[in-house]
Amino acid sequence: MEHTKAWTTYKAKDIKALESLAQRYRAFLDAGKTERECVTEAVRLAEAKGFVNIDSVKKAKPGTRVYANCMGKALLLFVVGKKPIIEGMNILGAHIDSPRIDLKQNPLYEDGDMAYLDTHYYGGIKKYQWVTLPLAMHGVVAKSDGTVVNITIGEDESDPIVGISDLLIHLAREQMGGKASNFIDGEALNIIIGGKPVTNADDKEKEPVKAGILKILEEKYGIGEKDFISAEIEVVPAGKARDFGLDRSMIMAYGHDDRSCAYPSLEAILNVKGVPERTCLCLLSDKEEIGSVGATGMHARYFENTVAELMNLAGEYSELNLRRALSSCRMLSSDVSAGFDPNFASVFEKKNAAFLGRGICFNKYTGAGGKSGSNDANAEFIGWLRKVMDDAGVNFQTSELGKVDAGGGGTIAYICALYGMNVIDCGVPVLSMHAPWEIINKADLYEALKAYTAFLAS
Ligand code: MN
Ligand code: MN
Repeated sequence: MEHTKAWTTYKAKDIKALESLAQRYRAFLDAGKTERECVTEAVRLAEAKGFVNIDSVKKAKPGTRVYANCMGKALLLFVVGKKPIIEGMNILGAHIDSPRIDLKQNPLYEDGDMAYLDTHYYGGIKKYQWVTLPLAMHGVVAKSDGTVVNITIGEDESDPIVGISDLLIHLAREQMGGKASNFIDGEALNIIIGGKPVTNADDKEKEPVKAGILKILEEKYGIGEKDFISAEIEVVPAGKARDFGLDRSMIMAYGHDDRSCAYPSLEAILNVKGVPERTCLCLLSDKEEIGSVGATGMHARYFENTVAELMNLAGEYSELNLRRALSSCRMLSSDVSAGFDPNFASVFEKKNAAFLGRGICFNKYTGAGGKSGSNDANAEFIGWLRKVMDDAGVNFQTSELGKVDAGGGGTIAYICALYGMNVIDCGVPVLSMHAPWEIINKADLYEALKAYTAFLAS
């Protein structure tokens, strides 16, 4: 099936709305390079739109707008509808964690007269892509006295940046002959953070460069070497999201997976007008890139626990009512899709590939091999969705994650499907997914917002 190039359907007002959305999205990306920063920014935007913390609410009624913050890393935003919650919600679910490089608990060392931070990468990365890049450090240090220090180094123009070295080509004969997965060893992802001895170092100082770094950490942030034990510092590409292409049709940025779906999902819920028919929920989850595990991942119970709290506030709670509500939900598991890349055409099957600029993409199933690990969305649900999309004039396409047996991947869809709800994967196609700098087309972002808005109102 030949899909429409979304751009050819646009009038002047669409282009204006699309560019304005792209600008807000870039600002969100620049403010949110970690899951924590995304939650902070989303809460700020939500409060400006009248959402309040669910803990401060005594009663929920149609039109109530609340958010629930899960450990500062995952967020649920609700707009209570006219119908009882037991009849089900319209859910937009995306994730706000992205592949990156985390610091180890004992990271700091000195070697070759340089100071380094040792790391453990997070999520599926091609390790060779992360060397020789300007990198920034974002995160928190939780001290034993209970204070939490926020760290952002490398984003301001006046900040220093950090990074990882690669072997010079002149001595790389053995490296270049090896497998790409072994070009850079996981243990070689060491961040260079210093190169001069501490002032007034005497001969007894065994690690004078490390000592210099420790002095800076103490002076600037009030943290010592032991404080890394209770820190979460993420090393990410330094720099801002930028328009991409001479025609400015695309955006290159860190973290399109999955913020290109999380952000329009957030806007869609923040812009719900008045009181919707069904209760609307935007769910921004963490840890998707490592299997949705942990207290803030989709496998955790915070989602159903919070729905239970909301039903309680609405005077609807019982264990059975909660189960009925969850199984009656409809959900768009909003995650990015593999965009067709002509440079690597052999891994795609063109009839069932997502093209950049042809609109939001629905993936009936993901998984690997014989659809293993996939949520295979119901045909009836997709039939219903087609009408919602067509009525709202949404440009959409359908795809698979590459050719059969070329690889595979998963999202949070199969986890939500465990409740018995109808759920389908749906999102923005991305080029160079999981690379430090990924590419999306602005038209697909715009169609995502249109699709999510129409879905919440359906
Ligand atoms: Mn994703
Ligand atoms: Mn991913």
